[in-house]
Amino acid sequence: MGGFWFTEKQTENFGITMKVKKTLHSEQTEFQQLDMVETEEWGNMLLLDGMVMTNQKDEWVYHEMVAHVPLFTHPNPENVLVVGGGDGGVIREVLKHPSVKKATLVDIDGKVIEYSKKYLPEIAGKLDDPRVDVQVDDGFMHIAKSENEYDVIMVDSTEPVGPAVNLFSKGFYAGISKALKEDGIFVAQTDNPWFTPDLIRQVQKDVKEIFPITKLYTANIPTYPSGLWTFTIGSKKYDPLAVEDSRFHDIDTKYYTKELHKACFVLPKFVKDLIE
Ligand code: SAM
Repeated sequence: MGGFWFTEKQTENFGITMKVKKTLHSEQTEFQQLDMVETEEWGNMLLLDGMVMTNQKDEWVYHEMVAHVPLFTHPNPENVLVVGGGDGGVIREVLKHPSVKKATLVDIDGKVIEYSKKYLPEIAGKLDDPRVDVQVDDGFMHIAKSENEYDVIMVDSTEPVGPAVNLFSKGFYAGISKALKEDGIFVAQTDNPWFTPDLIRQVQKDVKEIFPITKLYTANIPTYPSGLWTFTIGSKKYDPLAVEDSRFHDIDTKYYTKELHKACFVLPKFVKDLIE
């Protein structure tokens, strides 16, 4: 039978526990503790600094919702940037949009890319697509060097600790606005309203001061803290709730639908109260 129980502490007093069959790879990289484990319930799973990043069973919820809400909101997304996202899942979803000519991925840790390709091939498999440009670099520095370049930017980073701490600052969001074209859109994962309400409140406040259209949407991600995940979208021109039906071309998904594109912005009252 073997194996062991692993717990991710989501707060000091609460966690998620799962049965691990075996450890596939474990190392302290230059930036974080990287563990790739085989779990009984969720298949192969990537952990960074002891936090669940992605896994073979529920990965498509997050990757579809980060990608398709902004990419269907923009009328013709051609040049896309993913900050973080070294597991390749968001890039895989981005490439389902025929309008996309170039998708750039900037992840600070090449080891995440390397071991995702090895143990999460169905998630990382599109990183070698000819439309994809993979760069191992600090997303903060990449944004600082970019101007009027991208139609859509997605920030698929770890939590605002360690290497990602700068990726939740107002200065970073101002840099994102500069890196976007005049009608660009950006989305960032913004954690959960149960354990990190202050983060959501602060990011929404900062983004509202930079982007004329700022909204929050949610998705159910069973292996993320509390299961109720949020995404902050900032848009210079296009409203995600004003997308013409004709815009929604067919797309292969398991979670995202054109109905959910709008419904995901309907918030429970305690979340709505957070951001108003
Ligand atoms: N979906 C996950 C979540 O919501 O927590 C994120 C998954 S993805 C693996 C997170 C990636 O962010 C990691 O590969 C990490 O190396 C990357 N990252 C953290 N800080 C970064 C930075 N400053 N620049 C670029 N990538 C960064």
